[in-house]
Amino acid sequence: MEYLSTRNDKISFKFEHIFIKGLSEDGGLFLPKKIEKFSEKEFSNLKALSYVDLATEIIYKFIGDFCSKEKLHEIVKKSYSSFSEKEVVKIRKVEDLQILELFHGPTLAFKDVAMQLIGNFYEYYLSKTSEKINIVVATSGDTGAAAIDAVKGKKNINIFVLHPNNRISPVQRMLMTTNPSKNVFNIAVEGNFDDCQKLVKQMFSDREFSKSINMSGVNSINWARIVAQSVYYFFCYFKLGKKEKVSFSVPTGNFGDVYAGYLAKKMGLPIDKLLVATNENDILHRAISKGDYKTNKVQETISPSMDIQVASNFERLLFDIYNNDSKKVIEIMSDIKNNKFNLDQFSLKKIQKDFISGSLNEKEILETIKHIYKNNRIVVDPHTAIGVGAVKKHNGKNYVVLATAHPCKFPNAILKAIDKKEELPNHLKEILNQKEEYEVFQNNIENLKSYIKKNCK
Ligand SMILES: *Cc1c(COP(=O)(O)O)cnc(C)c1O
Repeated sequence: MEYLSTRNDKISFKFEHIFIKGLSEDGGLFLPKKIEKFSEKEFSNLKALSYVDLATEIIYKFIGDFCSKEKLHEIVKKSYSSFSEKEVVKIRKVEDLQILELFHGPTLAFKDVAMQLIGNFYEYYLSKTSEKINIVVATSGDTGAAAIDAVKGKKNINIFVLHPNNRISPVQRMLMTTNPSKNVFNIAVEGNFDDCQKLVKQMFSDREFSKSINMSGVNSINWARIVAQSVYYFFCYFKLGKKEKVSFSVPTGNFGDVYAGYLAKKMGLPIDKLLVATNENDILHRAISKGDYKTNKVQETISPSMDIQVASNFERLLFDIYNNDSKKVIEIMSDIKNNKFNLDQFSLKKIQKDFISGSLNEKEILETIKHIYKNNRIVVDPHTAIGVGAVKKHNGKNYVVLATAHPCKFPNAILKAIDKKEELPNHLKEILNQKEEYEVFQNNIENLKSYIKKNCK
């Protein structure tokens, strides 16, 4: 499979390149030149597969000659052996909804599903070369922990994680900063997630710098993550065994997870609607419901992993909507930067064929958590609650809600909603007493660059 950039449709890359680089040098995102649908026969052969076998079949379509199918199967199997659910994910019926729990990995958020795989992809890649790699990644709270767990202690790889200082939950922070591995570096930036994301993008586009440290990216723009996430849409659909189309409600920040659903649909999965559920940082809700794509200031909410205004992966959708025209995308991205972009009616209609949207404020999130607990004795985390609440607002039928994090990562919100102390699972309790290690930095790229240069060996 060949890949291009959303900002240059003439170039052609292999999977290995786009996986290691993450982001294209022109600032664009990588996409396959063509996404093929499964044939009817292929599709029906997928139905009864285990999660690991299904993931192997789907991911193999995208990786070209990166590794053999047997090797891929081995890597996938190893990646999901650290999950507490045998089939990686779990489906639970809650009232008239299905909840797809994606948080049974080592750091209790759906980010583990893609990241564990990516860690082992790196290991395999590095076993074949003499390269050393430095990952630099921005996190709104969950990506960082998942990435650290995925590469901790691995050879020839360092990871630098930027998180917004004091804007993630203490449990989220401690999952990152108590990791004793020598190849892990935590950096708290005085700013919000968008600032962190911008710093990483700037470091990437500084070619001299990024070359000098052999910089690699694992943010949710990394195509390998999107592909890995598309698997659970298929798995869930097959497990439910419905004849009719299914819709998915997806708590959304950077538009990666819901885009994975869109990818699954493009591959032929009978999905009706993808519901983009946001918190008060509702740029995507405004864009999808009425074409208004103006960024506001980032607001801090009780669902910090979604406190984002610049949803990087939306660029992939725009590329698609504007018929793979990279010139047009460059124009739009510049307009977005200057905060003067609106979707025209024609493009909006196109988007609305696949997507709808909804947004919840804090009060609504807390009420949703409370309602679900009262009626079902199930505790959902604030992000998942947004997914549930958005379906209710639409009176949606036949919905699966993606449960993106374990509630114990957000004990304060749960306490506020249902007056219940949500405890960490036993194997994670120890982090609460461990020494934390992280550096605090001003939002200043030069200081950061020298810190990274000094510490990457
Ligand atoms: C990252 C994250 C999201 C948002 O996912 P995107 O792919 O960035 O849209 C939602 N919920 C939780 C718990 C997350 O960690």
